[in-house]
Amino acid sequence: MYLKHLLRVMLFWLFAMNTTFADAIFDPDTNTIILSHVLAGDGSSQTESIYATNVRITFDEVISAGISWPPLIHPLPWPAEIDFFDTRNQELTISYITTPDRSIERKDVVIKIDSVLGFDYSESIAAGVSDFKFRYVLDESLPVEWRNDFEQIMANLQRDIPIFAKPGWYSMPVFAWKSDAEAPLPFISGACICGGGEGGSYDWMSLEISAWEIENSDIHRYSVVPHEYFHVYQISHADLSGLKWLMEGPAATLESIYVQEHYGVDYFSQAQAPLLSGLVRESPSLYESFSASGEADDNYSGSVFLTLILAEELQNQGFSEAEAYRKIMKDFFLGRTKFK
Ligand SMILES: [Zn+2]
Repeated sequence: MYLKHLLRVMLFWLFAMNTTFADAIFDPDTNTIILSHVLAGDGSSQTESIYATNVRITFDEVISAGISWPPLIHPLPWPAEIDFFDTRNQELTISYITTPDRSIERKDVVIKIDSVLGFDYSESIAAGVSDFKFRYVLDESLPVEWRNDFEQIMANLQRDIPIFAKPGWYSMPVFAWKSDAEAPLPFISGACICGGGEGGSYDWMSLEISAWEIENSDIHRYSVVPHEYFHVYQISHADLSGLKWLMEGPAATLESIYVQEHYGVDYFSQAQAPLLSGLVRESPSLYESFSASGEADDNYSGSVFLTLILAEELQNQGFSEAEAYRKIMKDFFLGRTKFK
């Protein structure tokens, strides 16, 4: 019993130290910085990116000192941050940096690198390959089968719908856990792309997987992954979070197409169509807003309906089915890219 307890304490410290020292560390004595994870790219998706770990650098110019950041946002199991080196202007954005004694903790520090002293590992990510970094925190409460499928789904999505890193938008943690277990952090709940934090915000993907869905093998336990992933794709080009059906319609449509293709489940007919409200025909403009559509858009049935109708209208204008969906799901968002 005692040994078990001791072991647990030791494991806790090992884990805590790992996490504590996995963010960027500035050592004032040697004036060096160790970056645990760095992504280097030009944000264009047209050239290769480089991902490296434990990169040791010196710096000569602080372009922005960022903001002072209390340790509150980074309790376990928040995963270590990734930093971004913009190869166009040669500026390094350090998402979160501390000193070994934690007397300094800052967020979004921008510096010019003087020299690279070394690194442990690096890989090249070819042009056109998804380089936006998701950092998984998959809780043990989830069955191994779910965790394996999750990783496969994410790999498929990143291959088919690449998301490209750019300054200010290059990484996001993903928290997944079973709903009857404790949430990984008190401010994380539900299934969403959420954000928050006092004094400056972080974004994350929250996947609270319903225990009922797992126990009853309900396909939504998996379909929620492409749904939330697609929101990250959308936001990476245009944040239309106020415009409900244009965000939720394509995400919920993609969700159905994904499980049709990979699990042979017709989620459109099973879980979306039966909930459709007549209100979508009477007052479609209600679906522009989350609050106005409310319960009349249960499981986004109305938003999906409008998306399918739009695809139908485009086909009536002579576009093929594939072209129509490409316009709605891809071209529309690409045309609104906010980061240039
Ligand atoms: Zn959604």
